[in-house]
Amino acid sequence: AKARGRGAYQLFEPEMEEEARSRHALEHDLRGALESNQFHLVFQPQVRLASSELTGFEALLRWKHPSRGLVSPAEFIPIAEENGLIVPIGEWVLRTACASAASWPDVTVAVNLSPVQFRSRGLVTLVTSALAEAGLPPQRLELEVTETALLDDSEATIGILHQLRALGVRVSLDDFGVGYSSLSYLRKFPFDRIKIDRSFVGTLGESPESVAIVRTIASLGSVLGVETTAEGVETEAQLAFVRECGCTAVQGYYFGKPCPAADVGRTIETLKAV
Ligand code: C2E
Ligand code: CA
Ligand code: CA
Ligand code: CA
Repeated sequence: AKARGRGAYQLFEPEMEEEARSRHALEHDLRGALESNQFHLVFQPQVRLASSELTGFEALLRWKHPSRGLVSPAEFIPIAEENGLIVPIGEWVLRTACASAASWPDVTVAVNLSPVQFRSRGLVTLVTSALAEAGLPPQRLELEVTETALLDDSEATIGILHQLRALGVRVSLDDFGVGYSSLSYLRKFPFDRIKIDRSFVGTLGESPESVAIVRTIASLGSVLGVETTAEGVETEAQLAFVRECGCTAVQGYYFGKPCPAADVGRTIETLKAV
């Protein structure tokens, strides 16, 4: 029985070991990635529904690993949040995104902020300095935060959000509808925008629950005077649907996949013609 037990144990052990090793290696490589210029940003268009007009781009981080190739942010950002590397990486993202946006015509850049960045000191100073350094008007920067950022220490976080807003930047509540979604966040802090998680948009065709959720968030936004962006719109049918639900903006492959900084100008021209 002993031998069998051991055998059964070893059956799944190597897999777990392999996973831990791979994560460990990734964490090791992540430590040098910033210095070695392995990061770049891509930009995804955001479109206002009423006028079909391009209003801005969301900056999304990409890591080109020297041997693994592109590693998904869904894989490396949790690691960077755990070991604190997200703070210097997030600073690089913010400064780089602001610098890029300064060369665009009058459209915004949206930058994701990790909850960990809220717990680190100096976030407001960093945003102020990134804007000044790039010469970007604060109105052209939008910061995307998730509910997780508001979970703990909410007094302090709400204070920081107010300071950021006082600078003139806009603040969005990202991935709304998943996780700990609480309507009280919307009362505690005046967000400029709610972004409806793409898991709902992607299932509009088959799930009456998703339809109800998108509708409810859109009307909530309309009552509160808050913009509502439907994320992950890929098809004409989804576009028509979120429009009908009352969402005010969309982001998704239908209007454009994230593109490198060099292609932003072309994307702006293409979307003007739509
Ligand atoms: P997010 O902030 O919700 O970003 C939207 C994600 O949805 C992006 O994935 C984007 O490429 C993807 N997406 C957009 N439209 C569509 C669509 O029509 N269909 C599908 N299937 N996907 C679509 P990405 O770039 O892989 O980023 C994943 C997540 O990683 C982001 O989710 C965000 O939470 C995080 N992330 C990315 N860049 C940064 C960053 O600079 N800082 C931080 N803290 N997090 C970041
Ligand atoms: Ca986002
Ligand atoms: Ca999102
Ligand atoms: Ca998401």
